[in-house]
Amino acid sequence: CGIVGYIGTKEKRDFLIHGLKELEYRGYDSAGIAVLKEGEISSFKATGKLSNLDHKTENFSSSGFGLGIGHTRWATHGKPTEANAHPHWGEFSYIIHNGIIENYKEIKDELLKEGITFLSQTDTEVAVHLFEKNVRELGDCFKAFEKTIASLHGAYAILLITKKAPDVIFFAKNAVPLLLGRSPEHEVYFSSSDAPLIGHVNEVVYLEDGEYGWVEKNAITLIKNNTKQHLDFKPLTHDKL
Ligand code: GLU
Repeated sequence: CGIVGYIGTKEKRDFLIHGLKELEYRGYDSAGIAVLKEGEISSFKATGKLSNLDHKTENFSSSGFGLGIGHTRWATHGKPTEANAHPHWGEFSYIIHNGIIENYKEIKDELLKEGITFLSQTDTEVAVHLFEKNVRELGDCFKAFEKTIASLHGAYAILLITKKAPDVIFFAKNAVPLLLGRSPEHEVYFSSSDAPLIGHVNEVVYLEDGEYGWVEKNAITLIKNNTKQHLDFKPLTHDKL
């Protein structure tokens, strides 16, 4: 399973599909992408090989400033169906996640009581609805994301995009790898390993457990234990094996 993400003006579909191909060795049963551009989100999912997702998206073009997230799933909660493939969405936000949200059942029961409808059997879907509930209550996506992450127990690499903050990718990492890379033009990429980033970025940050934050057009915020962290970019010198 794996995660990729990109914020910038390049063709997002190409990086997302190629990036996921570089992560194929990690294993997966389904895949999906979402792209946010000019306030609209387009999302595609397919079970089986990445070539299925590749075909489904072949006429989808996504250059110009925007955000893209891509995911390969290795099912832990819910069968490997298209409905259970990521991204998962609520009313205005889309999420991808690798790992397991241990306390998803408690969160789901609370959300069900409030009348939220679930479209999948995954543990992941609770996180996007919880985020949206927090946005409605707090009126602020950044505070809502922090509150959401504080409520999740378990292992996760998460990327989240939302129409309410259309220039931002929110991220969180705990016990599942997630890297952030920066190109010489200061575009930002995400990935589960450095393989998809080779040729795109010259610097990377290997996120640590408990770290989360957000990437905006011209700024990256990294937080751990409610404290802003220094971004420790390292050169990506790795030669492709
Ligand atoms: N637990 C999530 C699911 O079953 C994510 C699995 C993964 O790591 O791909 O959908």
